[in-house]
Formats: sequence, C-alpha cells, structure tokens
Amino acid sequence: MAGYAQTVTGIVPVEALGATLMHEHILCDLRAPSEDPSTGDAPITMANRFETDYFQNRNPANMVLDEDDVALHELRDFKAAGGGTIVELTIGGLVPQPLRLAALSESAGISVVMGAGYYVDAYLSDTIRAADIDELEQQIETQLTDGAWGTGVRAGVIGEIGCSWPLAASERRILEAAVRVQRSTGAALTIHPGRDEDAPAEIARIVANAGADPSRTIFCHMDRTIFDRGRLVELLDQGFVLEWDFFGIETSQYWMAGVDLDLPTDYMRLDLIGDLMAMGYRQQIAISQDICTRTRLTSYGGHGYAHLLRHVAPLMRRRGWRDSDIDQLLVKTPARLLGFHSGPVQS
Ligand SMILES: [Zn+2]
Repeated sequence: MAGYAQTVTGIVPVEALGATLMHEHILCDLRAPSEDPSTGDAPITMANRFETDYFQNRNPANMVLDEDDVALHELRDFKAAGGGTIVELTIGGLVPQPLRLAALSESAGISVVMGAGYYVDAYLSDTIRAADIDELEQQIETQLTDGAWGTGVRAGVIGEIGCSWPLAASERRILEAAVRVQRSTGAALTIHPGRDEDAPAEIARIVANAGADPSRTIFCHMDRTIFDRGRLVELLDQGFVLEWDFFGIETSQYWMAGVDLDLPTDYMRLDLIGDLMAMGYRQQIAISQDICTRTRLTSYGGHGYAHLLRHVAPLMRRRGWRDSDIDQLLVKTPARLLGFHSGPVQS
C-alpha cells in the first residue's frame, strides 16, 4: 500500500489524487439527537438564507446533506475548478453513506476518500458509548480493511474522531482505539478537538502515550480552537499536522451556543498559515472547507467545494505566495497523508 491511497472506489496511486480537500462532508446528518426540536424545520429561501447561514445550526433543514442530485452538481463544479479528491469525514453518528458516495464519486469523476471511526459522544449510540477499546479497535480497523457501515466500501483515513470539551470517557476510548488502528494500518488519523484552547494539548498527550505517529495525526478546526501562536507552535514542534478547514466562512460570528470567539476570515487564515510555513512548518499544515451545511453549497447560495481552488488559490498568488507553497497545501501534503505506510507499524 506504500504510495497508494484507498478511495471509495478502490486503490489509487497518490500522484493521481490531484488537488485535494482534506476535510469535507458530502452526505451527512449533523442534527444532534438531543437538539431542541422547537426551532422547527424551515425551508431555505432567499428571504431566510442569510439568517440560516449566519447561525448555521439553528435551522435543522440546514444540517442535512442528503440530496444526490445536489451533491453531484456540487462535485462536478469542484472538478470543473480543477479538483481531484475530496476527503469525506462523515463517520459513525453522522449517518455515513458509503454506497452513495461511491456512486457520486464515479458519476462526478473525482476521488473520494472516506473516514472511519466515530464522532462526538452526543451523537453516539449506547452500544458504541459502552464499547471497550478492543471492540472499537476491531470495528474501526474493519472499516478500513473490509468495508464500512455494512458495505464493502473501505475507508481510507481514520476520523474525524470526535472529541468534546471536557473529553467524554467514550471519546477517550475511541481515540485510543483509533491510534491502535493507525499503528496497525498506517492510515492517517484526523481528530476533531473539543472547543477549548487546552483541548488539543490534552488529546496530543493521550495519542502520544498510545503510540500515535504525530506526522500522520491531524488536528482539525484550528480556526475555532487555538488563537495563541505559542500553542500552535507547541503542537507543531511535537510533529503534529494542524488543519485550518473553515475556508469560505467569512463571518466573524461563531454559531455554537456557549462558545464565545471571533472566527477568522480567509485573509487572516492565510496570514497565519503563511507565517507558520515561513517558520519551517510547511509540511505540517492542511487546509479545507468542512462543508457540512446546505448554505455552504452553491445550490443554496454558498461558495461550494471549489472555493479553495477558485478563490483562495488566486488570493494566495495575489499576495505573493510561491506556487510551490500552494502546491504543498493542496496537493503534496494531502498525498503524503492519504498514502498508506509501507506496512503495519511494528509495536
Ligand atoms: Zn469536525
């Protein structure tokens, strides 16, 4: 498997992946099982589109990506903009759809790499919540080696493994199981940290103690998690990969209840990433858009999967970025992360 990635339609050489989005959702259901249903489900219209997008998770109709015709249109637009591969991290708790993903991938002519594992505790079934590390390890490994969610479609990456703040006991077990599977398969591991500046450092200790390979372990959602450069550098110095995956979200307002922070704009993300690359961390940064709501799609007035290629890459060039740095973020680092190790890690 060295030098090869595992997509929903089979094995491909990493050189064939092309421009890659490292953290997206194509079909998913983000409606929390415990969510207050009193908000109601209002169809998205021109009249409520801004409000729906501004709060992202208030209108349940915005929280479900389940329309194959819409998805196909969006993926074709990504391909038309030069896109090659989308990493689809809809995992247990978010209603993964492997067979539909495989069909969409073939129809759109792009590669899709699917995630394995489980999302945050609030979305888990009681069975998964109670499972021990051995059971979880076996399930996640099966998703990569045999097929996921009752199908023969195999995952090609582990995650996004869900972590809350504070970290739930089930989430800690899933993290440790995920690290074991990283060690046995060589797959990259991507982690959704809790919404607290201390969360990534705590998770870093847990996964390091469990024997994770930091160079193949990604902390996602840095945009809403860490605002202090010293903390970012501490994680980078341990060898971890940090991911800014809110590209295209250009409002400062963060919609998560109980979380008070200002989101950065694309310009601010680029300033920070450019600085970190100049400091020598150019191979440890991933970028994406984390599309998981309808208003982020072009079909609902959003930027769509092509935004990084169509708008952000030209912005990088205008700001004097070298082509080699743009290529590193969009092609080389994804290829390194999605290519499997030469074989199981010896323990
Ligand atoms: Zn996430």
